Amino acid sequence: MRKLLPLALLTLTACAPKTDTETQPTQEINYNVDRFADIEVLRYAVPGFEDLSLEQKQLIYYLTEAAISGRDIIWDQNCSYNLPIRDMLEAVYTNYSDDKESEEWKAFEKYLKQVEFANGIHHHYSMDKFKPEFSQEFLANQVSKLPADLKPANAEELYSVIFDPTVLPKRVNQADGVDLISTSACNLYGGGITQKEVEDYYAGIKNPKDETPVSYGLNSRLVKNPDGSISEEVYKIDGLYGDKISRIVDNLKKASEFAENATQKSVIDKLIEFYTTGSLKAFDDYSIAWVGDTDSRIDFINGFIESYGDPLGMTGSFESIVNFKDLGASHRTEVVAGNAQWFEDNSPVDPNFRKPEVKGVTAKVITAAILAGDAYPATPIGINLPNANWIRAAHGSKSVTIENITKAYDEAAKGNGFAEEFVIDDSTRSLMEKYGFMTDNLHTDLHECLGHASGRLMPGVDPDALKAHGSTLEEARADLFALYYLADPKLLELGLLDNPEAYKAEYYKYMLNGLMTQLMRIEPGKDVEEAHMRNRQLISAWALEKGKADNVAELVKRDGKTYLQINDYEALRGLFGQLLSEIQRIKSTGDYEAGRKLVEAYAVKVDPELHKEVLDRYATLNIAPYKGFVNPVYTKITDADGNVTDITVDYTEEYLPQVLRYSQQY
Ligand code: ZN
Repeated sequence: MRKLLPLALLTLTACAPKTDTETQPTQEINYNVDRFADIEVLRYAVPGFEDLSLEQKQLIYYLTEAAISGRDIIWDQNCSYNLPIRDMLEAVYTNYSDDKESEEWKAFEKYLKQVEFANGIHHHYSMDKFKPEFSQEFLANQVSKLPADLKPANAEELYSVIFDPTVLPKRVNQADGVDLISTSACNLYGGGITQKEVEDYYAGIKNPKDETPVSYGLNSRLVKNPDGSISEEVYKIDGLYGDKISRIVDNLKKASEFAENATQKSVIDKLIEFYTTGSLKAFDDYSIAWVGDTDSRIDFINGFIESYGDPLGMTGSFESIVNFKDLGASHRTEVVAGNAQWFEDNSPVDPNFRKPEVKGVTAKVITAAILAGDAYPATPIGINLPNANWIRAAHGSKSVTIENITKAYDEAAKGNGFAEEFVIDDSTRSLMEKYGFMTDNLHTDLHECLGHASGRLMPGVDPDALKAHGSTLEEARADLFALYYLADPKLLELGLLDNPEAYKAEYYKYMLNGLMTQLMRIEPGKDVEEAHMRNRQLISAWALEKGKADNVAELVKRDGKTYLQINDYEALRGLFGQLLSEIQRIKSTGDYEAGRKLVEAYAVKVDPELHKEVLDRYATLNIAPYKGFVNPVYTKITDADGNVTDITVDYTEEYLPQVLRYSQQY
């Protein structure tokens, strides 16, 4: 599971904890790289890389190569037309010799940047297909001038996918009451298979009595054959995406030679086995080994991990993040994780649904060295893995906060005017300035290392019982756990906060975001779709409504503008606890109907008037609602005999040059 950036970070650096003990990069870094459509591309620093040993640097080097090698997998998973369209667009872009001041060219360049950012033709967050602002004639004319070997054979078909708004309009459809497979453009199912056929297939191979089930469908494309039978095309070295996977494996083998210890080596070797055999049992073995590796400084994820890209939440999108532990900042999360049992025992959840023994919850703050696949360019700020419930219960999970990424967001957001426009008054603003960054980091820690790890399913409850609403409710559960405990005196006792009022900064920001400011990410007339956004609106709208009688919080009008006013923070905490208890009950008992009702009632619909107001006010600030990152470039330095003497890191590559280079080299 992943934690995404809650909103364009406020300017909250006044009292940010200084946690970095590592060497800052010596190069001057330009954090703001590119700005187009609703996107800003940033750059992140990798403090501490220079201090690593040559072996560690080489380990990172080969893991980053393995990461980027899977790039085309996510493109193809997102939509079967993505790669041929990318080839065509990039060929036109690099061969263009006409007027670069023309409106059509500028629109074309913008579209290319959007597609590169989303790893395909659908928006990475809204899942809607991009609307090109150049004409089909312009593109066709440019394609006609391409050298013969660069001309696509099926250009007409590609044009209709790009320009016809009725063709493949949505990557992942979550709308209630329609066939989610046939209405989603993603390429995880094929041959005209229906949702019912997919569900029947997995119901047929799942054993409800199996207490250690593999993650069915995680690494395969399910297809209906011409004779009507159903089969899985497995992602493996001699299967689907075999050429990419074999390059990943080659680099993993080289990385394995530089493993820091035997445990880490066995993690890498088990991942190689998974990629070689495609066996989901091998993936579980790898996951268990990975959870057990808590001593290595360097860590990575590489594989088919999160299932947000699948309307049925089964198949994992290719993703990789290579990282190393930020030793100074990790102290904070170690304190949180070290007290996991106390938090579990004191939660407002029905004791039957709590975990009697919370095992192996580890948490650390990491420095990302590379982002790849589904985590590039848009990336999460925290991760909690593995996703398999029984592995989490029996072996624990690893939870990380990626603090060089949150720092880059914070750097880029300085002075953007957001707080002045949306926060109700000076006193709230100054509380947020003082404690916002700190409580936001803590919220991430609590969400990832306690929230997702807490609670248990009742015996016999299918972990997928909440179906299409599972992700939203799971994120809500983790967020509520974090919100509830942010206000707990325990955090002061543990030395994680120094002011009993500090939590109010995060409460205000969370409610403001869930009720109003996240709407800036949605087009007028559209519903809330994405699981994290649904979860935030669910929590905020539910608390607002349930607290109405006691005037806990309200939306007030001042000079024609809507503001959130929180009147009783303590009562708000009580409401968060109440909802946490209910959502844990829903998850523990697999109460699909109650979960569906909560989501449908609070998480989906948008007040069109308030939505318009937020968009209008937000537009005056000119802040990009979505952000992502270019990667640093690592280079091997060798001596005259070919021995590697160093790995250098460079922060100068720009956005389009980077993605175009990736397309060429990987
Ligand atoms: Zn989460």
